[in-house]
Amino acid sequence: MAETFDVVIIGSGPGGYVGAIRAAQLGLKTALIEKDKRLGGTCLHRGCIPTKSLLWSAALLHHIQEAADFGIEVPKPVVNWAKVQEHKQKVVTKGANGIDYLMKKNKITVIKGHGRIAGKGKVEVTGDDGSKQQLDTKNIIIATGSVPKSLPNVKVDHERVLNSDSILGIDRIPKSLIVIGAGAVGCEFASVFNHMGSQVSIVEYLPNILPIEDADISKEMEKQFKKRKIDLHTGAKVESVENTGSGVKLTMTVGSETRTIEAEIVLSAVGRAPVSEDIGLQHTSIKADRGFIKTDTMMRTTEPGVYAIGDVIPTAMLAHVASAEAVLAVEHIAGKNPAPINYDLTPSATYCYPEVASVGLTEKKAKERGYDVKTGIFPFSAVTKASISNEGIGLVKVVSDKKYDEVLGVHMVGPHATELLAEACVALRLEITTEELAHTMHAHPTLSEIVKEGAEATLGHPIHI
Ligand code: FAD
Repeated sequence: MAETFDVVIIGSGPGGYVGAIRAAQLGLKTALIEKDKRLGGTCLHRGCIPTKSLLWSAALLHHIQEAADFGIEVPKPVVNWAKVQEHKQKVVTKGANGIDYLMKKNKITVIKGHGRIAGKGKVEVTGDDGSKQQLDTKNIIIATGSVPKSLPNVKVDHERVLNSDSILGIDRIPKSLIVIGAGAVGCEFASVFNHMGSQVSIVEYLPNILPIEDADISKEMEKQFKKRKIDLHTGAKVESVENTGSGVKLTMTVGSETRTIEAEIVLSAVGRAPVSEDIGLQHTSIKADRGFIKTDTMMRTTEPGVYAIGDVIPTAMLAHVASAEAVLAVEHIAGKNPAPINYDLTPSATYCYPEVASVGLTEKKAKERGYDVKTGIFPFSAVTKASISNEGIGLVKVVSDKKYDEVLGVHMVGPHATELLAEACVALRLEITTEELAHTMHAHPTLSEIVKEGAEATLGHPIHI
Protein backbone atom coordinates (compact mmCIF):
# COMPACT_ATOMS: atom_id res chain seq x y z
CA MET A 1 0.00 0.00 0.00
CA ALA A 2 1.25 3.51 -0.88
CA GLU A 3 2.60 5.49 2.07
CA THR A 4 0.51 8.36 3.38
CA PHE A 5 2.21 11.63 4.16
CA ASP A 6 1.13 13.98 6.93
CA VAL A 7 1.89 16.90 4.67
CA VAL A 8 2.77 17.37 1.01
CA ILE A 9 4.11 20.79 0.08
CA ILE A 10 3.99 22.00 -3.53
CA GLY A 11 6.86 24.43 -4.20
CA SER A 12 10.28 24.69 -2.54
CA GLY A 13 10.82 28.44 -2.13
CA PRO A 14 11.41 30.03 1.28
CA GLY A 15 7.79 29.13 2.03
CA GLY A 16 7.88 25.49 0.94
CA TYR A 17 11.31 24.36 2.03
CA VAL A 18 11.16 26.13 5.41
CA GLY A 19 7.71 24.62 5.99
CA ALA A 20 9.08 21.18 5.13
CA ILE A 21 11.89 21.48 7.66
CA ARG A 22 9.60 22.71 10.44
CA ALA A 23 7.10 19.94 9.63
CA ALA A 24 9.83 17.32 9.89
CA GLN A 25 11.05 18.83 13.16
CA LEU A 26 7.51 18.42 14.47
CA GLY A 27 7.56 14.73 13.53
CA LEU A 28 5.33 15.02 10.46
CA LYS A 29 5.98 12.72 7.51
CA THR A 30 6.70 15.29 4.83
CA ALA A 31 7.10 15.45 1.06
CA LEU A 32 8.30 18.49 -0.90
CA ILE A 33 7.55 18.80 -4.61
CA GLU A 34 9.52 21.11 -6.92
CA LYS A 35 9.33 21.50 -10.69
CA ASP A 36 12.61 23.44 -11.05
CA LYS A 37 15.95 21.62 -11.30
CA ARG A 38 17.05 22.85 -7.88
CA LEU A 39 15.26 23.59 -4.62
CA GLY A 40 15.04 27.15 -3.29
CA GLY A 41 12.43 28.93 -5.42
CA THR A 42 12.46 32.50 -6.63
CA CYS A 43 14.29 33.81 -3.58
CA LEU A 44 17.38 31.68 -4.05
CA HIS A 45 17.51 31.40 -7.84
CA ARG A 46 15.88 34.55 -9.26
CA GLY A 47 15.30 36.91 -6.35
CA CYS A 48 16.74 37.83 -2.96
CA ILE A 49 20.08 36.08 -3.21
CA PRO A 50 21.37 36.65 -6.77
CA THR A 51 20.32 40.31 -6.63
CA LYS A 52 22.18 40.85 -3.37
CA SER A 53 25.28 39.25 -4.86
CA LEU A 54 25.16 41.70 -7.80
CA LEU A 55 24.52 44.55 -5.36
CA TRP A 56 27.54 43.52 -3.31
CA SER A 57 29.82 43.60 -6.37
CA ALA A 58 28.35 46.97 -7.36
CA ALA A 59 28.82 48.45 -3.88
CA LEU A 60 32.37 47.12 -3.76
CA LEU A 61 33.16 48.90 -7.02
CA HIS A 62 31.65 52.10 -5.63
CA HIS A 63 33.75 51.90 -2.46
CA ILE A 64 36.93 51.14 -4.42
CA GLN A 65 36.24 54.16 -6.63
CA GLU A 66 36.07 56.30 -3.49
CA ALA A 67 39.07 54.68 -1.80
CA ALA A 68 41.38 57.64 -2.56
CA ASP A 69 39.20 59.81 -0.28
CA PHE A 70 40.33 57.59 2.58
CA GLY A 71 43.98 57.68 1.62
CA ILE A 72 43.99 54.42 -0.26
CA GLU A 73 45.16 54.87 -3.82
CA VAL A 74 44.32 52.07 -6.19
CA PRO A 75 44.48 51.90 -9.98
CA LYS A 76 41.18 52.47 -11.76
CA PRO A 77 39.13 49.33 -11.06
CA VAL A 78 38.06 47.19 -14.00
CA VAL A 79 34.81 45.22 -13.86
CA ASN A 80 35.00 41.62 -15.00
CA TRP A 81 31.28 41.06 -15.46
CA ALA A 82 31.67 37.35 -16.17
CA LYS A 83 33.36 37.01 -12.79
CA VAL A 84 30.60 39.04 -11.13
CA GLN A 85 28.11 36.55 -12.56
CA GLU A 86 30.30 33.61 -11.56
CA HIS A 87 30.40 34.77 -7.94
CA LYS A 88 26.61 35.21 -7.97
CA GLN A 89 26.15 31.67 -9.28
CA LYS A 90 28.55 30.27 -6.70
CA VAL A 91 26.49 31.79 -3.88
CA VAL A 92 23.24 30.46 -5.37
CA THR A 93 24.67 26.96 -5.85
CA LYS A 94 25.96 26.92 -2.28
CA GLY A 95 22.47 27.87 -1.06
CA ALA A 96 20.83 25.13 -3.14
CA ASN A 97 23.33 22.54 -1.87
CA GLY A 98 22.54 23.71 1.65
CA ILE A 99 18.82 23.11 1.14
CA ASP A 100 19.51 19.64 -0.31
CA TYR A 101 21.54 18.85 2.80
CA LEU A 102 18.75 20.09 5.09
CA MET A 103 16.19 17.94 3.25
CA LYS A 104 18.34 14.83 3.80
CA LYS A 105 19.12 15.73 7.39
CA ASN A 106 15.41 16.12 8.17
CA LYS A 107 14.42 13.00 6.19
CA ILE A 108 12.09 14.92 3.90
CA THR A 109 10.98 13.14 0.74
CA VAL A 110 11.86 15.41 -2.20
CA ILE A 111 10.06 14.75 -5.47
CA LYS A 112 11.00 16.58 -8.65
CA GLY A 113 8.14 17.40 -10.97
CA HIS A 114 4.99 19.44 -11.45
CA GLY A 115 2.58 18.97 -8.53
CA ARG A 116 -1.18 19.15 -8.89
CA ILE A 117 -3.93 18.47 -6.38
CA ALA A 118 -5.72 15.42 -7.78
CA GLY A 119 -8.57 15.07 -5.29
CA LYS A 120 -9.13 14.92 -1.54
CA GLY A 121 -5.79 14.06 0.07
CA LYS A 122 -4.18 13.34 -3.29
CA VAL A 123 -1.36 15.06 -5.13
CA GLU A 124 -0.15 13.96 -8.53
CA VAL A 125 3.40 14.70 -9.61
CA THR A 126 4.37 14.74 -13.28
CA GLY A 127 8.09 14.36 -13.92
CA ASP A 128 9.98 16.03 -16.77
CA ASP A 129 9.79 12.74 -18.68
CA GLY A 130 5.99 12.68 -18.36
CA SER A 131 5.94 9.94 -15.71
CA LYS A 132 3.28 10.34 -13.04
CA GLN A 133 3.12 9.37 -9.41
CA GLN A 134 0.36 9.88 -6.92
CA LEU A 135 0.89 10.79 -3.29
CA ASP A 136 -1.64 10.27 -0.49
CA THR A 137 -1.55 12.88 2.21
CA LYS A 138 -3.50 14.18 5.18
CA ASN A 139 -2.61 17.81 4.40
CA ILE A 140 -1.44 19.82 1.40
CA ILE A 141 0.37 23.16 1.44
CA ILE A 142 0.32 25.22 -1.74
CA ALA A 143 3.58 27.18 -1.86
CA THR A 144 3.83 27.77 -5.60
CA GLY A 145 5.03 31.38 -5.35
CA SER A 146 4.91 33.96 -8.12
CA VAL A 147 6.37 34.98 -11.49
CA PRO A 148 7.13 38.41 -13.02
CA LYS A 149 4.18 40.38 -14.41
CA SER A 150 4.39 42.76 -17.34
CA LEU A 151 2.38 45.70 -18.66
CA PRO A 152 -0.02 44.79 -21.49
CA ASN A 153 1.70 47.29 -23.83
CA VAL A 154 5.28 46.29 -22.97
CA LYS A 155 6.28 42.95 -24.45
CA VAL A 156 9.11 41.27 -22.59
CA ASP A 157 11.31 39.70 -25.28
CA HIS A 158 14.30 39.02 -22.97
CA GLU A 159 16.62 40.74 -25.47
CA ARG A 160 15.78 44.43 -25.46
CA VAL A 161 13.03 44.25 -22.85
CA LEU A 162 13.97 42.09 -19.90
CA ASN A 163 12.31 41.14 -16.64
CA SER A 164 13.89 40.40 -13.26
CA ASP A 165 14.50 36.77 -14.28
CA SER A 166 16.31 37.53 -17.54
CA ILE A 167 18.30 40.58 -16.41
CA LEU A 168 19.95 38.45 -13.72
CA GLY A 169 21.72 36.49 -16.44
CA ILE A 170 22.67 39.44 -18.65
CA ASP A 171 26.10 38.96 -20.22
CA ARG A 172 27.20 42.62 -20.19
CA ILE A 173 26.77 45.91 -18.41
CA PRO A 174 24.37 47.89 -20.62
CA LYS A 175 25.47 51.41 -21.51
CA SER A 176 22.00 52.61 -20.62
CA LEU A 177 18.97 51.10 -18.94
CA ILE A 178 15.38 52.18 -18.42
CA VAL A 179 13.70 50.60 -15.41
CA ILE A 180 9.90 50.54 -15.48
CA GLY A 181 8.64 50.36 -11.89
CA ALA A 182 10.28 51.88 -8.82
CA GLY A 183 9.40 49.24 -6.25
CA ALA A 184 12.10 47.28 -4.41
CA VAL A 185 13.08 45.15 -7.43
CA GLY A 186 13.31 48.12 -9.83
CA CYS A 187 15.30 50.26 -7.38
CA GLU A 188 17.74 47.44 -6.62
CA PHE A 189 18.57 46.81 -10.29
CA ALA A 190 18.76 50.59 -10.87
CA SER A 191 21.41 50.74 -8.10
CA VAL A 192 23.39 47.78 -9.46
CA PHE A 193 23.71 49.21 -12.95
CA ASN A 194 24.13 52.82 -11.78
CA HIS A 195 27.17 51.76 -9.77
CA MET A 196 28.40 49.65 -12.66
CA GLY A 197 28.41 52.73 -14.90
CA SER A 198 25.16 52.44 -16.90
CA GLN A 199 23.08 55.56 -17.50
CA VAL A 200 19.89 54.62 -15.62
CA SER A 201 16.40 56.07 -15.96
CA ILE A 202 13.45 55.05 -13.79
CA VAL A 203 9.86 55.39 -14.92
CA GLU A 204 7.24 55.07 -12.16
CA TYR A 205 3.48 55.39 -12.53
CA LEU A 206 2.89 56.57 -8.95
CA PRO A 207 4.00 60.00 -7.72
CA ASN A 208 6.92 58.59 -5.66
CA ILE A 209 9.55 55.90 -5.93
CA LEU A 210 9.30 53.08 -3.34
CA PRO A 211 5.64 54.06 -2.99
CA ILE A 212 4.85 51.74 -0.06
CA GLU A 213 7.48 53.41 2.13
CA ASP A 214 6.86 56.43 4.37
CA ALA A 215 6.64 59.60 2.24
CA ASP A 216 9.76 61.12 3.87
CA ILE A 217 11.75 57.99 3.03
CA SER A 218 10.62 57.97 -0.61
CA LYS A 219 11.51 61.66 -0.93
CA GLU A 220 14.95 61.13 0.60
CA MET A 221 15.59 58.17 -1.69
CA GLU A 222 14.63 60.28 -4.71
CA LYS A 223 17.15 62.87 -3.58
CA GLN A 224 19.84 60.20 -3.26
CA PHE A 225 19.09 58.68 -6.67
CA LYS A 226 19.17 62.14 -8.28
CA LYS A 227 22.55 62.78 -6.64
CA ARG A 228 23.76 59.60 -8.29
CA LYS A 229 22.51 60.97 -11.63
CA ILE A 230 19.67 58.49 -11.99
CA ASP A 231 17.06 60.06 -14.23
CA LEU A 232 13.66 59.85 -12.47
CA HIS A 233 10.25 60.09 -14.12
CA THR A 234 7.47 59.74 -11.53
CA GLY A 235 3.74 60.01 -12.16
CA ALA A 236 4.60 58.66 -15.60
CA LYS A 237 2.41 56.36 -17.66
CA VAL A 238 4.27 54.18 -20.15
CA GLU A 239 2.58 54.49 -23.54
CA SER A 240 4.86 52.33 -25.64
CA VAL A 241 8.22 50.65 -25.84
CA GLU A 242 9.68 50.28 -29.29
CA ASN A 243 12.63 48.19 -30.37
CA THR A 244 14.76 50.47 -32.57
CA GLY A 245 17.18 47.75 -33.57
CA SER A 246 20.10 49.34 -31.76
CA GLY A 247 18.10 49.90 -28.58
CA VAL A 248 14.70 50.83 -27.21
CA LYS A 249 12.58 53.94 -27.29
CA LEU A 250 10.09 54.45 -24.47
CA THR A 251 7.27 56.94 -24.73
CA MET A 252 5.44 58.05 -21.61
CA THR A 253 2.95 60.68 -20.57
CA VAL A 254 3.49 62.72 -17.44
CA GLY A 255 0.37 64.79 -16.89
CA SER A 256 -0.25 66.47 -20.24
CA GLU A 257 3.39 66.16 -21.34
CA THR A 258 4.67 63.40 -23.61
CA ARG A 259 8.26 62.31 -23.01
CA THR A 260 10.46 59.98 -24.99
CA ILE A 261 13.64 58.41 -23.68
CA GLU A 262 16.00 55.90 -25.24
CA ALA A 263 18.31 53.25 -23.85
CA GLU A 264 20.12 50.06 -24.74
CA ILE A 265 17.66 47.92 -22.75
CA VAL A 266 14.52 48.15 -20.63
CA LEU A 267 13.84 46.30 -17.40
CA SER A 268 10.17 45.67 -16.73
CA ALA A 269 9.81 45.55 -12.94
CA VAL A 270 6.10 46.10 -12.46
CA GLY A 271 5.31 43.45 -9.90
CA ARG A 272 4.63 39.74 -9.72
CA ALA A 273 1.69 37.44 -10.37
CA PRO A 274 0.79 34.50 -8.11
CA VAL A 275 1.13 30.97 -9.54
CA SER A 276 -2.20 29.26 -9.02
CA GLU A 277 -3.00 27.93 -12.48
CA ASP A 278 -2.51 24.30 -13.35
CA ILE A 279 -2.18 23.16 -9.75
CA GLY A 280 -5.46 21.27 -9.58
CA LEU A 281 -7.62 23.86 -7.85
CA GLN A 282 -10.57 22.54 -9.86
CA HIS A 283 -10.52 19.49 -7.55
CA THR A 284 -11.07 21.75 -4.54
CA SER A 285 -13.49 24.43 -3.36
CA ILE A 286 -10.72 27.05 -3.74
CA LYS A 287 -11.49 29.99 -6.01
CA ALA A 288 -8.48 32.13 -6.79
CA ASP A 289 -9.04 35.89 -6.82
CA ARG A 290 -6.87 37.50 -9.53
CA GLY A 291 -4.70 34.43 -9.06
CA PHE A 292 -4.31 34.83 -5.30
CA ILE A 293 -5.54 32.13 -2.94
CA LYS A 294 -7.25 33.48 0.16
CA THR A 295 -6.61 31.91 3.55
CA ASP A 296 -7.64 32.43 7.15
CA THR A 297 -5.16 33.44 9.85
CA MET A 298 -3.98 29.81 10.15
CA MET A 299 -3.23 29.70 6.40
CA ARG A 300 -6.21 27.37 5.77
CA THR A 301 -7.93 27.71 2.41
CA THR A 302 -11.62 27.04 1.91
CA GLU A 303 -10.75 23.39 1.20
CA PRO A 304 -10.33 21.32 4.39
CA GLY A 305 -6.76 20.03 4.72
CA VAL A 306 -5.37 22.43 2.10
CA TYR A 307 -3.24 25.37 3.22
CA ALA A 308 -1.59 28.12 1.15
CA ILE A 309 1.40 30.31 1.99
CA GLY A 310 3.86 32.79 0.51
CA ASP A 311 3.58 34.77 -2.71
CA VAL A 312 0.54 32.81 -3.87
CA ILE A 313 -1.59 34.38 -1.12
CA PRO A 314 -2.42 38.10 -0.91
CA THR A 315 0.09 39.05 1.79
CA ALA A 316 3.39 40.91 1.24
CA MET A 317 5.51 39.15 -1.39
CA LEU A 318 8.58 38.68 0.77
CA ALA A 319 10.70 35.66 1.61
CA HIS A 320 10.48 36.14 5.37
CA VAL A 321 6.69 36.44 5.14
CA ALA A 322 6.52 33.17 3.19
CA SER A 323 8.73 31.44 5.79
CA ALA A 324 6.69 32.79 8.73
CA GLU A 325 3.45 31.63 7.07
CA ALA A 326 4.99 28.21 6.39
CA VAL A 327 5.98 27.71 10.02
CA LEU A 328 2.54 28.81 11.17
CA ALA A 329 0.77 26.45 8.76
CA VAL A 330 2.75 23.36 9.77
CA GLU A 331 2.49 24.17 13.46
CA HIS A 332 -1.26 24.35 12.99
CA ILE A 333 -1.21 21.02 11.15
CA ALA A 334 0.82 19.54 14.01
CA GLY A 335 -1.90 20.55 16.47
CA LYS A 336 0.03 23.38 18.07
CA ASN A 337 -1.88 26.54 18.70
CA PRO A 338 0.23 29.13 16.87
CA ALA A 339 -0.51 32.83 17.24
CA PRO A 340 -1.65 34.48 14.01
CA ILE A 341 0.94 36.61 12.22
CA ASN A 342 0.83 40.32 12.98
CA TYR A 343 1.51 41.62 9.48
CA ASP A 344 2.04 45.15 10.84
CA LEU A 345 5.39 43.86 12.07
CA THR A 346 6.59 42.75 8.63
CA PRO A 347 10.04 44.22 7.98
CA SER A 348 10.59 45.65 4.54
CA ALA A 349 14.07 46.02 3.05
CA THR A 350 15.32 47.42 -0.25
CA TYR A 351 19.01 46.90 -0.90
CA CYS A 352 19.53 49.85 -3.23
CA TYR A 353 22.22 52.43 -2.46
CA PRO A 354 21.75 53.74 0.13
CA GLU A 355 19.56 51.04 1.64
CA VAL A 356 15.95 51.47 2.68
CA ALA A 357 14.35 49.54 5.54
CA SER A 358 11.23 49.89 7.59
CA VAL A 359 8.93 48.16 10.02
CA GLY A 360 5.55 49.14 11.37
CA LEU A 361 3.23 51.95 10.42
CA THR A 362 4.13 54.88 8.20
CA GLU A 363 3.08 58.29 9.49
CA LYS A 364 0.17 58.30 7.02
CA LYS A 365 -1.04 54.82 8.01
CA ALA A 366 -0.76 55.59 11.71
CA LYS A 367 -2.93 58.67 11.22
CA GLU A 368 -5.42 56.66 9.17
CA ARG A 369 -5.65 54.18 12.06
CA GLY A 370 -6.65 57.06 14.33
CA TYR A 371 -3.42 57.49 16.28
CA ASP A 372 -2.42 60.90 17.52
CA VAL A 373 1.02 60.69 15.97
CA LYS A 374 4.37 62.20 16.88
CA THR A 375 7.44 61.72 14.70
CA GLY A 376 11.16 62.33 14.91
CA ILE A 377 13.70 62.48 12.12
CA PHE A 378 17.45 62.14 12.59
CA PRO A 379 20.03 62.36 9.77
CA PHE A 380 22.94 59.96 9.23
CA SER A 381 25.10 63.08 8.65
CA ALA A 382 25.08 63.57 12.45
CA VAL A 383 26.23 60.00 13.18
CA THR A 384 30.03 59.88 13.60
CA LYS A 385 30.38 56.27 12.47
CA ALA A 386 28.72 57.24 9.17
CA SER A 387 31.17 60.12 8.71
CA ILE A 388 34.10 57.71 9.05
CA SER A 389 33.03 55.94 5.86
CA ASN A 390 31.77 59.15 4.16
CA GLU A 391 28.26 57.69 4.33
CA GLY A 392 26.44 60.43 6.19
CA ILE A 393 23.54 60.09 3.79
CA GLY A 394 19.90 59.43 4.59
CA LEU A 395 17.89 59.50 7.77
CA VAL A 396 15.81 57.58 10.28
CA LYS A 397 12.21 58.45 11.05
CA VAL A 398 10.44 57.16 14.15
CA VAL A 399 6.65 57.20 14.28
CA SER A 400 5.09 57.00 17.76
CA ASP A 401 1.74 57.27 19.46
CA LYS A 402 1.42 60.48 21.50
CA LYS A 403 -0.91 58.97 24.09
CA TYR A 404 1.03 55.88 25.24
CA ASP A 405 4.39 56.74 23.60
CA GLU A 406 4.44 53.33 21.86
CA VAL A 407 6.77 53.08 18.87
CA LEU A 408 4.51 52.41 15.86
CA GLY A 409 7.03 52.47 13.06
CA VAL A 410 10.72 52.91 12.26
CA HIS A 411 11.74 53.91 8.75
CA MET A 412 15.25 54.35 7.43
CA VAL A 413 17.22 55.24 4.38
CA GLY A 414 20.96 55.11 4.79
CA PRO A 415 24.07 52.93 5.03
CA HIS A 416 23.37 49.38 6.21
CA ALA A 417 19.75 50.31 6.97
CA THR A 418 18.61 46.73 6.28
CA GLU A 419 20.88 45.46 9.07
CA LEU A 420 20.00 48.30 11.45
CA LEU A 421 16.32 47.45 11.17
CA ALA A 422 16.45 44.31 13.36
CA GLU A 423 16.51 46.36 16.56
CA ALA A 424 13.37 48.18 15.47
CA CYS A 425 11.66 44.85 14.72
CA VAL A 426 12.28 43.71 18.30
CA ALA A 427 11.20 47.10 19.66
CA LEU A 428 7.87 46.92 17.86
CA ARG A 429 7.36 43.23 18.71
CA LEU A 430 7.81 44.05 22.40
CA GLU A 431 5.59 47.14 22.09
CA ILE A 432 8.22 49.36 23.68
CA THR A 433 7.90 53.11 24.12
CA THR A 434 9.94 55.78 22.40
CA GLU A 435 11.38 56.69 25.80
CA GLU A 436 12.53 53.09 26.40
CA LEU A 437 14.19 53.08 22.97
CA ALA A 438 15.84 56.43 23.66
CA HIS A 439 17.08 55.19 27.04
CA THR A 440 18.55 51.99 25.62
CA MET A 441 22.34 52.35 25.68
CA HIS A 442 23.84 51.89 22.21
CA ALA A 443 27.53 51.20 21.65
CA HIS A 444 29.52 54.17 20.39
CA PRO A 445 30.54 54.70 17.67
CA THR A 446 27.99 52.65 15.74
CA LEU A 447 25.52 53.35 12.98
CA SER A 448 22.83 51.91 15.25
CA GLU A 449 23.07 55.02 17.42
CA ILE A 450 20.76 56.56 14.84
CA VAL A 451 17.85 54.50 16.16
CA LYS A 452 18.37 55.88 19.68
CA GLU A 453 18.78 59.42 18.30
CA GLY A 454 15.66 58.99 16.17
CA ALA A 455 13.73 58.06 19.33
CA GLU A 456 15.21 61.07 21.12
CA ALA A 457 14.22 63.29 18.19
CA THR A 458 10.66 61.99 18.57
CA LEU A 459 10.74 63.05 22.23
CA GLY A 460 12.05 66.45 21.16
CA HIS A 461 15.58 66.20 22.58
CA PRO A 462 18.06 64.59 20.17
CA ILE A 463 21.61 65.00 21.47
CA HIS A 464 23.61 65.43 18.29
CA ILE A 465 21.55 67.94 16.30
P1 FAD B 1 8.82 31.06 -4.57
O1 FAD B 1 10.11 31.45 -3.98
O2 FAD B 1 8.38 31.74 -5.82
O3 FAD B 1 8.89 29.49 -4.80
C1 FAD B 1 7.85 28.80 -5.39
C2 FAD B 1 8.41 27.52 -5.94
O4 FAD B 1 7.32 26.69 -6.33
C3 FAD B 1 9.28 27.69 -7.17
O5 FAD B 1 10.49 27.02 -7.01
C4 FAD B 1 8.46 27.06 -8.29
O6 FAD B 1 9.26 26.43 -9.28
C5 FAD B 1 7.67 26.01 -7.52
N1 FAD B 1 6.42 25.62 -8.16
C6 FAD B 1 5.45 26.41 -8.65
N2 FAD B 1 4.44 25.68 -9.12
C7 FAD B 1 4.77 24.38 -8.92
C8 FAD B 1 4.13 23.15 -9.17
N3 FAD B 1 2.91 23.09 -9.70
N4 FAD B 1 4.78 22.01 -8.85
C9 FAD B 1 6.01 22.04 -8.30
N5 FAD B 1 6.66 23.18 -8.02
C10 FAD B 1 6.04 24.33 -8.32
N6 FAD B 1 12.06 38.96 -0.80
C11 FAD B 1 12.68 39.30 0.34
O7 FAD B 1 12.16 39.03 1.43
N7 FAD B 1 13.90 39.92 0.31
C12 FAD B 1 14.51 40.25 -0.84
O8 FAD B 1 15.60 40.80 -0.82
C13 FAD B 1 13.88 39.92 -2.05
N8 FAD B 1 14.45 40.21 -3.23
C14 FAD B 1 13.83 39.86 -4.38
C15 FAD B 1 14.41 40.21 -5.59
C16 FAD B 1 13.80 39.86 -6.77
C17 FAD B 1 14.46 40.22 -8.08
C18 FAD B 1 12.57 39.15 -6.76
C19 FAD B 1 11.90 38.75 -8.03
C20 FAD B 1 11.97 38.82 -5.56
C21 FAD B 1 12.58 39.18 -4.36
N9 FAD B 1 11.99 38.88 -3.15
C22 FAD B 1 12.62 39.24 -1.99
C23 FAD B 1 10.71 38.18 -3.05
C24 FAD B 1 10.91 36.71 -2.70
O9 FAD B 1 11.76 36.12 -3.65
C25 FAD B 1 9.57 36.00 -2.67
O10 FAD B 1 8.69 36.69 -1.82
C26 FAD B 1 9.72 34.58 -2.17
O11 FAD B 1 10.59 33.84 -2.98
C27 FAD B 1 8.36 33.89 -2.11
O12 FAD B 1 8.53 32.60 -1.63
P2 FAD B 1 7.50 31.43 -1.98
O13 FAD B 1 8.02 30.23 -1.25
O14 FAD B 1 6.12 31.88 -1.72
O15 FAD B 1 7.60 31.24 -3.56
